[in-house]
Amino acid sequence: MAPITINRHNIFQWLKFGLLEIGRVIRALFTRSGGRVTAVTRFVEEHAECGNPDSVLDAIDTFSYEQRFLMNVGDEKGEILLRHLKEAKAANVLELGAYCGYSAVLMGKELASKGGRLVSIEASDHNTQMARRVVARAGLSKTVEFQVGKASERIDQLEGPFDLVFIDHWKDDYLSDLMRLQDNGLLRPGSRIVADNVGIFSKALEPYLSYVRESEEFHSIHYPTRMEYNDSIDDGVEVSIWRPSPDEIAA
Ligand code: MG
Repeated sequence: MAPITINRHNIFQWLKFGLLEIGRVIRALFTRSGGRVTAVTRFVEEHAECGNPDSVLDAIDTFSYEQRFLMNVGDEKGEILLRHLKEAKAANVLELGAYCGYSAVLMGKELASKGGRLVSIEASDHNTQMARRVVARAGLSKTVEFQVGKASERIDQLEGPFDLVFIDHWKDDYLSDLMRLQDNGLLRPGSRIVADNVGIFSKALEPYLSYVRESEEFHSIHYPTRMEYNDSIDDGVEVSIWRPSPDEIAA
């Protein structure tokens, strides 16, 4: 996994976060609550209302704030993702990295209301199984299709173009998988690429950020945010519009 970016501005926040996490891991060991992805799935099934995506998202946010940290896009950055999904009038969406299904529920709720679909590619078989259960709890199984495997091995089998791509998987793969999407004709003019964690992994993602910011084919916007479920560590989201219209550049 790519290293997080630690510097003199954030080292104390990361130390505080690390100590909090150690305490939570020890508590989870004593209570035998299992791995965090399994634990949050059970929590959702115990606490969220069936067929209610908002209730599922609330349950995951509550779990992440109160029990174990989860690397979901989270509530603050989720709003940026959702805003671009709506602005792009997206109906065909691709996600790289499902984790436990949080962003799939967030986007799936919006897509279901318009008859759209989400394809979500996740490398971990276990995470995919848990994400399927979370999405089923939200009543979105018909809107979200999960595919298990490395994105790099699945992209050339996809049917596009995609109106929006949410990239939130291995940081080392952001750039190569974006280029794969371009090479396979899976973007259309105005497609939006929403990349998570460009703040906490700013060093690892330097090649990706240089590419989308310097390429004449992209109009790229940076959103400084906080890291998910944390009020002091800086993170960011990069939204890059491929072959934008003049209106999209002016917006
Ligand atoms: Mg992320």
